[in-house]
Amino acid sequence: MYDFVDKYWPMSVGDGKATRKKKPRILAITTDCCTGCAGSPACIEYCPIEACMFWVPDEDHPPFGRIEVDPYLCIGCQKCISKGPDGAFLDGCPWDAIEMVPTEDWSVTRPPLVN
Ligand code: SF4
Ligand code: SF4
Repeated sequence: MYDFVDKYWPMSVGDGKATRKKKPRILAITTDCCTGCAGSPACIEYCPIEACMFWVPDEDHPPFGRIEVDPYLCIGCQKCISKGPDGAFLDGCPWDAIEMVPTEDWSVTRPPLVN
């Protein structure tokens, strides 16, 4: 089981409707490009799942931090990376710091996923 660091605020509050019924085909991950948006993450408001996207403080460089995605909660909906025409960001991450990866590939680099 993947052992998480503690989840801090800000985090996604969800829409109160979406739920994860089965393991999704793809999962969102944040890359090293994540700046944390100076403590006001633009991505989390689009995530329909409560506590799926959450703040992780940078212990060495407070008050900086980054956003992580809980692979046990993510439903792979891609709302956090929504793009407009010609790749322009209308929603989601302005730094292109979120990638969608096949659930199997996520498991290659991290401990096995469970439902
Ligand atoms: S794909 Fe993005 S918006 Fe959808 S559940 Fe996963 S982290 Fe949230
Ligand atoms: S919008 Fe992008 S850069 Fe900002 S906190 Fe989210 S993933 Fe990180």
